[in-house]
Amino acid sequence: TRAETPPIPFDNSYARLPASFFSRVDPTPVEAPVLIRFNRELAEELGLDIAQLEADGAAIFSGNTILPGAEPLAMAYSGHQFGGFNPQLGDGRAILLGEVVDRHGRRRDIQLKGAGPTPYSRRGDGRAALGPVLREYIVSEAMQALGLPTTRALAAVVTGEPVYRETVQPGAVLTRVAASHIRVGTFQFHAARDDRAGVKRLADHAIARHYPELANDPQPYLAFLSAFADRQASLIARWLSIGFIHGVMNTDNVAISGETIDFGPCAFLDAYDPAKVFSSIDRNGRYAYAAQPGIGQWNLARLAETLLPLLDTDEEAAVTAANGVLKAYGERFQHHWLAAMRAKLGLSTIEDGDLDLVQDLLTHMHQEEADFTLAFRRLSDLAADPSTETAFTALFRNPASTSLWLDRWRRRVEAEGRSAEDTAAAMRAVNPAFIPRNHRIEQAIVAAQTNADFSPFDALIRVLARPYDDQPDMAPFAEPPAPGEEVLRTFC
Ligand code: AMP
Ligand code: MG
Ligand code: MG
Repeated sequence: TRAETPPIPFDNSYARLPASFFSRVDPTPVEAPVLIRFNRELAEELGLDIAQLEADGAAIFSGNTILPGAEPLAMAYSGHQFGGFNPQLGDGRAILLGEVVDRHGRRRDIQLKGAGPTPYSRRGDGRAALGPVLREYIVSEAMQALGLPTTRALAAVVTGEPVYRETVQPGAVLTRVAASHIRVGTFQFHAARDDRAGVKRLADHAIARHYPELANDPQPYLAFLSAFADRQASLIARWLSIGFIHGVMNTDNVAISGETIDFGPCAFLDAYDPAKVFSSIDRNGRYAYAAQPGIGQWNLARLAETLLPLLDTDEEAAVTAANGVLKAYGERFQHHWLAAMRAKLGLSTIEDGDLDLVQDLLTHMHQEEADFTLAFRRLSDLAADPSTETAFTALFRNPASTSLWLDRWRRRVEAEGRSAEDTAAAMRAVNPAFIPRNHRIEQAIVAAQTNADFSPFDALIRVLARPYDDQPDMAPFAEPPAPGEEVLRTFC
């Protein structure tokens, strides 16, 4: 027996846009799909029929069954990849099923990633391997729990078919949920074809969807660029504050909504190193940890270029306006970043020496190879309990070297007059105990690939759902990799 209402109450808007924006294409059925994970909590938030989706999940989330109301399509986009422009990218292995309006009234995309070839597949097979699907599931859900704007994972299936990468791997499909999949590269697609009406149509759609408060602004497109810039500045500041390296910040991987998207070769810092790169394809460190704010500005400039004709009929005036936004981005980033770092140090007020206090700790952590996540978490413990000092200092190669900085920090915190418990609680709310450490992700992937053992994957998801809570029984998940466990390179 079937419910009267479809299990996913689709309400599609992107499919109403001009035909040049996408290609209609159905998922290619797979051999023997098995549902390995279904995100009930997210399904609940989206207002979906959980019982029916769980019962038919393998067929639905593999693309074998197309539900009523779905209008499968591949989105067209371009993009600068590592600085070089590619006018013809698009969803080569992702198929948008449609949109729903969630229980909070927010419109969300539901997309199958790895659902088979599309007109934009170029030489690719349209498929995804199990490893990257598990990585995206783990990290995107962890980002959500950490409180950062992010796309999410609704389901993962294995397809029963092999995919051919460096090695033969099990195939999988991830169901991704996003505020939308509109990217900087989506604007570039229309601009590169000199389709001004297309750029305007897309901008109007993006404003209505992601920046509705700007619709009646006297200069809506400038306001849109500026609001996007602020969200991007805030997002990247928050990435840095949790030690996240996106790994492939191409303009096709930058969501207009301000969400983190595309968890390909992403990774988290263990020891603090601003020059850190994990991605196997980032040979020149273009997307290194500390390069991310500057790349955010570079990508913002690429969006601004597409909007110039909408900013002002006078070209010079348009360029001046866009440059104002680019300049403001730097200031907004600095503001968001320092605010995040102050909070990490337990500071609730603003003082002149704060930037130095933050920078000096980071410089010291770099020199002394301190683990980024543990250092801030143990500093939070130290705020509550002076007897834990050696747990903090032990993270530094030379523990005694931290004492001068600790004295400065203590004086600064004490001057605020908050109780030690309040300071520690505020710090623990922004300094996670648990992050998706690369070696743990790797272990989860290897167990799933080699033995179809999903228990390490499930355990990791469980612990990362509460990253700011001490979970003593999960303590090993807080630890950095042991020698020999380090992941040096990540692949997408
Ligand atoms: P990414 O590096 O994940 O941002 O992907 C860049 C482009 O390559 C996008 O247009 C993807 O759709 C496309 N792509 C990546 N992997 C595949 C694949 N296996 N088959 C077809 N297209 C792909
Ligand atoms: Mg991408
Ligand atoms: Mg990718």
